[in-house]
Amino acid sequence: MAEPELVDVVVVGLGVGGEEVAGRLAEAGLTVVGIDRGLVGGECPYWGCVPSKMMIRAANALAEARRVDEFAGTAQVRPDWAPVAKRIREEATDTWNDRAAVDRFTGKGGRFVRGAGRLDGPGRVRVDDQVFQARYGIVVGTGTSPSVPPIDGLADTPYWTNHQAIEVEELPGSLLVLGGGAIGLELSQVFARFGVRVTVIEASDRVLAVEEPEASEVAAKALRADGVTIETGVKAQRVSHDGAAFTVHADGREFTGDQLLVVTGRRAHLDELGLDTVGIDCTQRYLPVDGRLHAADGIWAVGDLTGEGAFTHIAMYQAAIVVADVLDHVRRTRGGPDASGTASVVGGAAGVVSAVGGSMSAGGSSVAPGSVPVADYRALPRVTFTDPEVGAVGLTEQQARERGINVQVGFTELSSSTRGWIHRADGFIKLVADADQGVLVGATSVGPAGGEVLSGLVVAVHAAVPISQLRHMIYAYPTFHRAIETALRELS
Ligand SMILES: Cc1cc2nc3c(=O)[nH]c(=O)nc-3n(C[C@H](O)[C@H](O)[C@H](O)COP(=O)(O)OP(=O)(O)OC[C@H]3O[C@@H](n4cnc5c(N)ncnc54)[C@H](O)[C@@H]3O)c2cc1C
Repeated sequence: MAEPELVDVVVVGLGVGGEEVAGRLAEAGLTVVGIDRGLVGGECPYWGCVPSKMMIRAANALAEARRVDEFAGTAQVRPDWAPVAKRIREEATDTWNDRAAVDRFTGKGGRFVRGAGRLDGPGRVRVDDQVFQARYGIVVGTGTSPSVPPIDGLADTPYWTNHQAIEVEELPGSLLVLGGGAIGLELSQVFARFGVRVTVIEASDRVLAVEEPEASEVAAKALRADGVTIETGVKAQRVSHDGAAFTVHADGREFTGDQLLVVTGRRAHLDELGLDTVGIDCTQRYLPVDGRLHAADGIWAVGDLTGEGAFTHIAMYQAAIVVADVLDHVRRTRGGPDASGTASVVGGAAGVVSAVGGSMSAGGSSVAPGSVPVADYRALPRVTFTDPEVGAVGLTEQQARERGINVQVGFTELSSSTRGWIHRADGFIKLVADADQGVLVGATSVGPAGGEVLSGLVVAVHAAVPISQLRHMIYAYPTFHRAIETALRELS
């Protein structure tokens, strides 16, 4: 067995969260080994957020051009996928090559090792025949991969996950999409706008089932207007592929398409990480963590695998807390001032936490030693980038009721606002209030800029701004966000 090499910190998985942690700890002067078996940067830049939003940008340009006939004369639109594929290849992913990301990390002083990392007892990580002993801790940020349901026959077919959908150079004539969540809807609308005949098959009784029912309705209506067939309440039982086409058999019905995209969720792979060697139950769906992202003594976790929300902004938010906490741990281990008991809840401000004494610092601004924030997910924002966009923060009405909150709801259609009417926009603002506390605990903003309008609502939920104050704000005329004022009036 190889002699373990002593380093300060080992980071396993350099996706959004792991890369941020590893880079900032290296910049702080620690010896950091960062390990990734795939591409440094992870899912977001290569097969997730960035290329999918490039696709959406292109598809929305087509849709806007098609609206010329309604508002401004005539326009002929001839979709062409080639420039989209080229942009993803050349601008977003460097043809799925991570040399720039590796250089970025090593430029900060980190050491990169390509391979699959596994814990191998307390403080130890093994990559093939290399073994590292971490002096201060291990950070795990191995993310998730597509969760493919155990549908009869599916595994034997050449189905797509998000990887093939993002890498596609030539579009199929028709596409079956298994899963009507955010990723399924975003990609379905893109492909439909480029002329693909798309059918979404969703087992729940509505698409976008985790969001407000009104949001599901608007999203489904928008996709249908783009020509997408939406089948809800349909459970796929069997999938077959005859060499040319896919057939999904469900409830006595058959759906056929040239290609099948499976986007039915994501799953962490705790069983592959050797977590049992440090006493962690690896049969769990996600790796449970406390408010400072501790999974166990000397082990932190960051990003999707914590199960706190599969979003890049969650991974980045958690990364800032992990960086602060690891540096605090290092300082205490080296004999700096005791930080225990001085934790503060710093919801959305985790991104600025840094500088924990001694010669170490990371980021830009300083905080007092020991001021390590505790994660606060009350105001978790999420955006589905369909057109119209679905932005949401905090609790849905149903979630708030299930928690026993004395709920009040304020709702207004976007079309009843001046801007919405001018724009002929579909959408709405829905506010979920805690009547006893007089604050918003959740909100949904659907519209052409639903994700941008959301920002004010995130502040309201995060900072628990009294509703009385929100009512006395001035909302610029005629913006989409002015509809928030109307929805506030609707709170009974
Ligand atoms: C199509 C799509 C669109 C999305 N759009 C958005 C969006 O618009 N906004 C948003 O906020 N989020 C979006 N997401 C989600 C976002 O991509 C993830 O939340 C984010 O990438 C999570 O980062 P992470 O650090 O947890 O892990 P990941 O990005 O999943 O990275 C994990 C890394 O760990 C590596 N790894 C795994 N196991 C090992 C091992 N044993 N040893 C070494 N390395 C390992 C992998 O190779 C990978 O590089 C989207 C996702 C998809 C699929």
